Amino acid sequence: MNKLDKNKLLLSHSPMQKIQFQGRDFYLKRDDLLHPQFSGNKARKFAYLLEAELPEVKTLIGHGSVQANSLYSLAALAKLRGWQLDYYVQRIPPFLKQAVATQTAKGNYQAALKLGANIVEVKLSKGQNKEQNLDDYMRAKSHSLAEHELFIPEGGRCALAEQGIAQLASEIISDCQKHALNHPIIMLPSGTGTTAVFLQKHLPYEVLTCACVGDASYLEKQFAELQSDKTLWPRILNTEKKYHFGKLYGEFYKIWQELLEQTKIEFELLYDPLGWLSLLTYLQQTNTQQDIIYIHQGGLVGNQSMLPRYRRKWG
Ligand SMILES: *Cc1c(COP(=O)(O)O)cnc(C)c1O
Repeated sequence: MNKLDKNKLLLSHSPMQKIQFQGRDFYLKRDDLLHPQFSGNKARKFAYLLEAELPEVKTLIGHGSVQANSLYSLAALAKLRGWQLDYYVQRIPPFLKQAVATQTAKGNYQAALKLGANIVEVKLSKGQNKEQNLDDYMRAKSHSLAEHELFIPEGGRCALAEQGIAQLASEIISDCQKHALNHPIIMLPSGTGTTAVFLQKHLPYEVLTCACVGDASYLEKQFAELQSDKTLWPRILNTEKKYHFGKLYGEFYKIWQELLEQTKIEFELLYDPLGWLSLLTYLQQTNTQQDIIYIHQGGLVGNQSMLPRYRRKWG
């Protein structure tokens, strides 16, 4: 096994800090500070893979979007462990290939390439639509793995994520003791819902979330695959308006800028704006005085490609 300085790597650099935003106090769990490369939500979900003895593994097999936070985190994980990452995508847009060629590329794709990731385009076979094609391809691939290959479901939605999230839960409990918080509410935005559902399982506090990818019923389906007892699901918050994942919205950029100005902390641009908008709506509706802990789930490398898009649109 590769020599890893595990103590220096994980799970000890995520302080909980008190911030003020829009005139209210919040506590922030700084999972964005876990490690410069391997941080946030994906580091928690893949923590098991960083720590476990896995002598037979030489190659990670992942898939998903070409600018996904999980691409970068898997690349960092592979690098730290001395493994190869083969990451399958439907398509690498020509502008992105061009940007890499001219060394102007930024964000998760570029950062993953720099870490040595092997990013493979899956050719579209006849009569298949795009999403189905990659899913079918990966399903077949996951059933025909070589002994040295380890398959990671998209976004890390799998049971092995539970260990790292249980660790996060136990840190939150001791952070609460330190800050003398009695009945806090936990808030974090969801993609696959893996983090939220396992956090709720391991915490004695209420967990709130919102659906950034798909709608609430999609998120409930994801919960159901990991937790059959509905009473243990996190509560899904709504906003009046519907948002589509990866699209740009003026109100997202606005709240992201406000957060930066008032807290001096950079948040992520895909998940956090909806997380904060949903939370503020909830606080307005319920007028709760309970302490709120918001989990900063990292993903800031993705801002390198998102921010220029926002700036082009709104200056
Ligand atoms: C992946 C990710 C999420 C979503 O996590 P899930 O466990 O899939 O719900 C939220 N925020 C950030 C910054 C992420 O990278």
